[in-house]
Amino acid sequence: MSSYDGIIIGAGHNALILQSYLGKAGLKVLCVERRHVAGGGLSTVEDPRHPGFLHNTHAFFQRAITTMPWYADLELERHGARYIEPELNVALLTSDGRSLEWWTDIAKTVESFAQFNQRDAATLKRWQHEFVPIVQEFLTPESRRPPLPPAERRAMLERSAAGRRLLDVSALSPLEFVDTEFEHPAVKAGLLFFNGLREVDLRVKGFGHHIAALLASPAKAQMCRGGSAALARALEASVRATGGDIRLLTEPARIVVENGRAVGVETSEGEVIRARQFVASSLNPTQTFVDLLDEALVPREIRDHVARFQYNLLAPLFALHLNLREPPRYAAATQNPALDKAFMVIMGLDDSAQFHDIVRHHEAGTIPPTVMWGACPTIFDSTQAPAGMHAAFMWEKLPYRLNGDPASWDAARDAHGAEMLKLWTQHAPNLEGAVISSFTRSPLDVERELPNMREGDLLVGAFTNDQVGFNRPFPGAGQYRTHIPQLYLCGSSSHPGGNVTGLPGYNAAQVILTDLGLRAA
Ligand SMILES: Cc1cc2nc3c(=O)[nH]c(=O)nc-3n(C[C@H](O)[C@H](O)[C@H](O)COP(=O)(O)OP(=O)(O)OC[C@H]3O[C@@H](n4cnc5c(N)ncnc54)[C@H](O)[C@@H]3O)c2cc1C
Repeated sequence: MSSYDGIIIGAGHNALILQSYLGKAGLKVLCVERRHVAGGGLSTVEDPRHPGFLHNTHAFFQRAITTMPWYADLELERHGARYIEPELNVALLTSDGRSLEWWTDIAKTVESFAQFNQRDAATLKRWQHEFVPIVQEFLTPESRRPPLPPAERRAMLERSAAGRRLLDVSALSPLEFVDTEFEHPAVKAGLLFFNGLREVDLRVKGFGHHIAALLASPAKAQMCRGGSAALARALEASVRATGGDIRLLTEPARIVVENGRAVGVETSEGEVIRARQFVASSLNPTQTFVDLLDEALVPREIRDHVARFQYNLLAPLFALHLNLREPPRYAAATQNPALDKAFMVIMGLDDSAQFHDIVRHHEAGTIPPTVMWGACPTIFDSTQAPAGMHAAFMWEKLPYRLNGDPASWDAARDAHGAEMLKLWTQHAPNLEGAVISSFTRSPLDVERELPNMREGDLLVGAFTNDQVGFNRPFPGAGQYRTHIPQLYLCGSSSHPGGNVTGLPGYNAAQVILTDLGLRAA
């Protein structure tokens, strides 16, 4: 029987970050992972039909990774990670051949917005300016520490003018914010898409500050050289350097609880691995509290919370991946050559009114007219394809329950990929002769590969239903501690939520170290 100080379930980036911090503090920690590879959503796969073509099948655009505290603390560059931050960070290609652009330099972004609407450009600048101190003083710090109880947070914010401003703006929904502040339909659509739709339900009050905060944040989209999995390899190297073990192809069947404390896991093969000080789960609440704990150990109230836990209706993604002879060459680049180096490219979106249609389709389980976004990583990093060749992808938000049943995706997948390629080729006509081959991945494929992303929700839990901050995933488990002593949460179902931020793992490390009377090394 093996024994460790602690065991972490699932080896996504949050788990590996937690494991590294605890290893640095002198603990011997094991991570158990059901797949053959660690990293979870940090996944880069080689196309088996075309060696050398690499595809990032989950997370690709990573926001401001190089500014994250763990990136420096864990010395990830020494362990091999390298990031690229293209200057033309995002371009929305409108159907009339223009482009709305977000640059790493805000002055250039304002210039691009001014070509659509002068007043909107001035409004953008004003909000960006006003929110810089709010982001610095409140929003960034609160994402990097265990969340405060809501009443305490409100009282803290009410003490300053900037805090009160944040409370006022966040009382709106993103849709209300944009409708009140901006005029041009493409500007509104672009702001909602880039700064909102990908994370939160645009209709929900409480997120009105999101757009201004993202404009003001230093967090631009970055990509990892060699593919997203290269960050996972750097994290694994950091885990090993701190004495940690990672066991792949190991699925826990149950969390072992003795005398009311979590003391290990039993694998699906019947092996018991003991943990002297803690067990942490990076999985979703259903997996942790229903699948892995005996029913008798989970009080009725917690079971009810888990049953009510909601996944994002609008988060599931459909992906089209291409192996290419040359990069997509956008028609709009003949007028604006900067577009040849655009990082994230959005197509099919002209008007914020399209969002209502997208939501309606998601609710009905049908496919809306295509709005898609993606990149050609090999423009910036030639290591992700054979010499002279390129790999590219587009994502689209599509319902998990297609026509009421996720299994419908298996038959519908490739036909939908062909529709996306049609739109892509309208904007980049050279794709007509450039495609060597393609493949698609549906929201169901995402859940099959990473079952913690239930219903294809890549954020592992909606930001609605009061599932934010102190109440994420639900009241009583919102500070990474659960109702069972020595059992913790550390994945995207905890504050501040999904995407590659590493902050749930980083914050869980602070809580566990505090409970164990240890300090981060
Ligand atoms: C198509 C797609 C595109 C995305 N694009 C982006 C993007 O551009 N930018 C961004 O920031 N984020 C993106 N994301 C989201 C991002 O990948 C996730 O939010 C992030 O990976 C969550 O990290 P995590 O550490 O919480 O969990 P995960 O990365 O999901 O890791 C969880 C780990 O637990 C393992 N596991 C699951 N069940 C069990 C079990 N029963 N026993 C043991 N192990 C288990 C999984 O195999 C996995 O390794 C995307 C996701 C998808 C699907």
